Amino acid sequence: MNLTLHLTDNCNLDCSYCIREKCPKDMSEEVLLKACDLAFAQGIQAGLCFFGGEPLLKKDLIYKALDYCEKKSAETGIRFESKMTTNGTLLDEEFLERARDAKMGIGLSFDGKAQDICRVFANGSPTSAVVEEKAKLLLKYLPDSVALATIAPQAVPYYFESIKYLHDLGFRKVSFVIAYGHKVNWTDEDLDLLRTELEKTAEYLKELFIKNERFYMSAINAKISDCIKGKNNAERCHLGVRQMPVTPDGSLYPCTSFIGDKAYLLGDVFNGINNEKVIEMAKRAATPETCLECDLVKRCTNSCGCANRMNTGDENKVSPLQCTYERMLIEISDNLGEELYQIDPVRFAKFYS
Ligand code: SF4
Ligand code: SF4
Repeated sequence: MNLTLHLTDNCNLDCSYCIREKCPKDMSEEVLLKACDLAFAQGIQAGLCFFGGEPLLKKDLIYKALDYCEKKSAETGIRFESKMTTNGTLLDEEFLERARDAKMGIGLSFDGKAQDICRVFANGSPTSAVVEEKAKLLLKYLPDSVALATIAPQAVPYYFESIKYLHDLGFRKVSFVIAYGHKVNWTDEDLDLLRTELEKTAEYLKELFIKNERFYMSAINAKISDCIKGKNNAERCHLGVRQMPVTPDGSLYPCTSFIGDKAYLLGDVFNGINNEKVIEMAKRAATPETCLECDLVKRCTNSCGCANRMNTGDENKVSPLQCTYERMLIEISDNLGEELYQIDPVRFAKFYS
């Protein structure tokens, strides 16, 4: 099974939209190894995602987990995969060599040209120059790494510019999401500007398509791919089954935004998973009432319990912000998809299916 290990709640950055609990809690080696055992306890595949706070503050634990799991994988024949989401500031060659050996998938949280607006060091100083250098180093070792940008309202004017900048830097995959939660406040003007920026992005993706250059921009590419494949990757993720978070003390929850709410506690790494609770939680998942009659219901992230809870406090209730954003994204993606199909249907099918 796949576990997300919150190795520490500490971080060396102080991003304005961060929703982590700011308290100095680190995972112990005992919890770490129990979590590794749990990942191997079910199925034919074990996956760990190193997460935080900032996971590279606990490099020692990452090295231990990799050594332990690779040995276990060799002994059991169970496939092992690792991933990490990091702010990048603590990346170095020694770590990247080990990560490359482990074929680790790394997501670099990097807001591109908007980086210094929200993502600053704990002392308030800018991070962009440091992270740009670390991004180049990361791509040297692991060229398939993904840049993960979180766009807050004040960063919207830099949306398209940031995509182009990250692409020019060498990223072949970028993921752009909008910032949710109580720390951000979206206005209608922000959303109008976001539409303009998304349209510029679609135009850029069209230019690259014409040049036969592959570049994956998750928000738009995923909507097009899902549409032609007739599936929805964002569909209810069966809370707690796909990727279960493990807190520093070893507690298991269905998803990040539920951490700390005892009503959603699914067990711990010492006593295992409470399967009855997992089943009960899956049964509670329902399409939000406001979405039942919507034509886009199958193409929208209305069913992400984690995002819904963060935005509305209710896992089955979508916020107006998310609804507006999803409609915009689907419309722009569909228009782009149609244009690309007209330009070259064969290449379109190759790129998106
Ligand atoms: S790098 Fe991540 S954990 Fe650290 S402050 Fe920023 S958003 Fe929060
Ligand atoms: S577009 Fe809005 S109403 Fe339609 S499914 Fe998505 S969230 Fe629900």
